[in-house]
Amino acid sequence: MINTVTETKRKFNVEEVRKDFPILKRLVNGKPLVYLDNAATTQKPQSVIDALTHYYTYDNANIHRGLYFLSELATEQYENARLKVKEFINAISASEIIFVRGTTEAINLVASSLCRTKYFREGDEIIISNMEHHSNIVPWQLIRDRKNINLKVIPINDNGEIQLDEFEKLITEKTKLVSIVHISNTLGTINPVKEIIKIAHSYKIPVLIDGAQAMSHLKIDVQELDADFYAFSGHKVFGPTGIGVLYGKTEYLEMMPPYQGGGDMIRTVTFEKTTFEDIPRKFEAGTPNIAGGIGLGAAIDYLNQFDRTELINYENSLLEYATNRLMEIEGLKIIGTAKKKASVISFIIEGIHPYDIGTIIDTDGIAIRTGHHCTQPIMRRFNIPATARASFSFYNTKEEIDKFVESLIKVKQIFAS
Ligand code: PLP
Repeated sequence: MINTVTETKRKFNVEEVRKDFPILKRLVNGKPLVYLDNAATTQKPQSVIDALTHYYTYDNANIHRGLYFLSELATEQYENARLKVKEFINAISASEIIFVRGTTEAINLVASSLCRTKYFREGDEIIISNMEHHSNIVPWQLIRDRKNINLKVIPINDNGEIQLDEFEKLITEKTKLVSIVHISNTLGTINPVKEIIKIAHSYKIPVLIDGAQAMSHLKIDVQELDADFYAFSGHKVFGPTGIGVLYGKTEYLEMMPPYQGGGDMIRTVTFEKTTFEDIPRKFEAGTPNIAGGIGLGAAIDYLNQFDRTELINYENSLLEYATNRLMEIEGLKIIGTAKKKASVISFIIEGIHPYDIGTIIDTDGIAIRTGHHCTQPIMRRFNIPATARASFSFYNTKEEIDKFVESLIKVKQIFAS
């Protein structure tokens, strides 16, 4: 039978959407805020702020422990948020969703837990890429030094794209894990993670995807990708800080030992021996970020109102517009020109340090990021100390991009005089 029920989605309209984000009404240095640092963190819609306030005002209690009304209510809301994440990324089961502090903790969880098993043996290899955020480099270095394993790095070309043929050449019978960023926070490159996973799986190697940036720019389906682990942060997808997700396939999560010990993750404890809860609670020791989980659930509800394709198309139109406008500025060079890009643009301007760019345009109320963006190996690859980076979300507008470009022209005039 053909299912004729279609869900009615809210039509995307940027002016209407901007009204949902109260911070966008504020002034900075006497000028309307132009927030172009969405790769660092996204702004929060009123519904997320309300969910947090409501929880602390009416429903606050510790979860999983109390038999009283409020504790059960808080537990139900927190577990409901887990279900929302499960649906959002199309995991098979809610038990594959581990709540953590963010992408950084998710990757550290996998690294530390696997380090305590016999999974890695001396001489084994982990493959990452040249465009990883420090949080997908340093956790592996920490275990490399404890387990005597090797880190191998997939090179990137001058456009900031992973070289797939080079990736396959790095694989040996000692390769035990591939850990790759989905969208680079510095270059904006959208990596072909589905192909990478397919290649790795053909050698029976599991793959962890750092989805910190991808979650807000793409529709993620972990089953379609066939990712073994997928990590992301709530605050980069319109939710609160201090909450994030590690998705893991059941077969891996069950094999992995707990990352931290404490309350809520145990079945029985004696001084001789402790037995652990099943997944996901095995990995969630102590009182979690209950409000954060509920807030992340509200962020997912917010996004689910829309047809995500409309948001993605709109962001792509901002990327194209901003790229063209920036290229009008003499001496400006974009770092990261991959064919497949999300709305993140890193750039340098000849003769002007990115810090000066950021500081001067801040006086116009424009927020961009400057520095190495926690990707020092990318800076080294392109032989530059830092970039300025503008990153756009679906609540940004072409008018904001125009203001940004005018402000950059002012920076150039200041330095010319
Ligand atoms: N990975 C990427 C690609 C990122 O952009 C970031 C943050 O900027 C992280 C990981 C770390 O995220 P968090 O600081 O939320 O743990």
